[in-house]
Amino acid sequence: MPEQVVKQRSRGFICVNAHPAGCAQNVERQIARVRSNMPSTSATDVSNVLVIGASTGYGLATRIATSWGLGCRTLGVFFEKPPAGRRTASAGYYNCVALHQAAERDGLWARSINGDAFSDEIKEEVLHSVAGSMGKLDLVVYSLASPKRTNPRAGTSHTSSLKAIGAPFTGKTIDLGNGEVGTASVDVATDAEIDETVAVMGGEDWRWWIEGLSDAGLLAPGAKTLAYSYYGPEVTWPIYKDGTIGAAKQDLKATADRLNAKLAQEVGGAAWVAVNKAVVTQASAAIPVVPLYVSLLFRVMKAKGIHEGCIEQMTRLVRDHLAVADGPQFDANGLIRLDDLEMRPDVQQEIAALWPKVGTDNLADVADFAGFRRDFNNLFGFDVDGVDYDLPVETEVFLP
Ligand code: NAD
Repeated sequence: MPEQVVKQRSRGFICVNAHPAGCAQNVERQIARVRSNMPSTSATDVSNVLVIGASTGYGLATRIATSWGLGCRTLGVFFEKPPAGRRTASAGYYNCVALHQAAERDGLWARSINGDAFSDEIKEEVLHSVAGSMGKLDLVVYSLASPKRTNPRAGTSHTSSLKAIGAPFTGKTIDLGNGEVGTASVDVATDAEIDETVAVMGGEDWRWWIEGLSDAGLLAPGAKTLAYSYYGPEVTWPIYKDGTIGAAKQDLKATADRLNAKLAQEVGGAAWVAVNKAVVTQASAAIPVVPLYVSLLFRVMKAKGIHEGCIEQMTRLVRDHLAVADGPQFDANGLIRLDDLEMRPDVQQEIAALWPKVGTDNLADVADFAGFRRDFNNLFGFDVDGVDYDLPVETEVFLP
């Protein structure tokens, strides 16, 4: 396949292709960020890490932070499309190709498995891979975000929904297609829709992963597992914390408590949930209200010099919580709070003051929608500094 010039193609606000050089540049930027922000010594003996959902967003950043920050051997699981003829791969696929090239260059051990993490086949493949080439795992990070899940044991398929619980909700949002501020109305979820969302984004699949690894004797003494959640400000609660996704996240926390007891007893380990800050990922951009809130958040946090993306968050997770002798630090509910800067009262007060005033006309002045857009384009390898989009690139590149 000859090289081709790749220009961004979108359907609605969703980008339907990806740029391999832009994705590679994003991965290199994250590696550089970790390297310059990690202490040279660490108090952790974590060396073998499994990241489930490792190709984009928080999972990719976790993988980069543990590899380049702590020198860990990482196995990544994700569900991405390889390239086919003139069709580019998905961005997550190119991210992982770039990660493997960088790992080889830098002498780091990395393996990847591309397939449905919810399936028993992929779980089996991972067990074989860990047993055959890693030994035992010190850390298992569960960072899946998916709209659907097929439960292989019950033979049922589940679809999550973004709905309110109890009362319908109408809130301010940005139409990502035309950049206009309007309102989004969200229906009340039925009990079945809540159950479906919990089945997709709750803790059952995480538990099955840990049970499978534990039964196979693949968890090292002191092994930890970690999943990610979000809390956010009150304006997002009806659609997030108090909505269907929030119900799934409650289930995730209940699962963490259950896994914590299991791992403590079996291997002297632990299970935690980290509450991360709002960032632009493919998953978060799909949630009404969130892009407008994130645009305001970016504006306020950048002005205060405390802006963070996935890699800054995961660098802090590794540096301040995982690699310190007395870590991690928990809040009163036993959660690791990486959203501490987002939730700082001065940050939230400024956003709350801007929220009623923001509209289409003043969006560019009071919010950083341009930054949101840019981050969104960056997810697919477009609009990335240092990439010449007029140059042809090889799009048929494959994972090792
Ligand atoms: P993302 O969309 O960037 O990444 C999702 C990952 O899951 C990708 O690697 C994808 O390949 C993988 N995946 C999806 N379905 C899969 C399947 N069936 N099999 C294997 N892999 C599959 O998402 P994200 O925003 O990084 O979210 C990760 C976690 O972080 C979620 O739990 C999310 O709730 C949480 N979180 C996100 C934010 C945010 O603002 N984005 C904030 C706080 C917490």
